[in-house]
Amino acid sequence: MEFGYQCEECEEAIWPATTRSELDWLRRRRHLVAEVRRHLSGGLDGWMEEGLEFLDRHDGHSVVLVQRPGR
Ligand SMILES: [Zn+2]
Repeated sequence: MEFGYQCEECEEAIWPATTRSELDWLRRRRHLVAEVRRHLSGGLDGWMEEGLEFLDRHDGHSVVLVQRPGR
């Protein structure tokens, strides 16, 4: 199953290649992860960069963790 973040205000969603628990962790530790990133030369994992970028872009919006609908 794929999980992702969805902004309830913009109705935009992303589906980074990771697990639900990792996404939940990133959402709760977002500021810490962003801080750590500033001290890394190699950058973060792709899913983290993607997730942080989304969370930053929807800062102050209502972002929820969702399961990707089946197709
Ligand atoms: Zn938004």
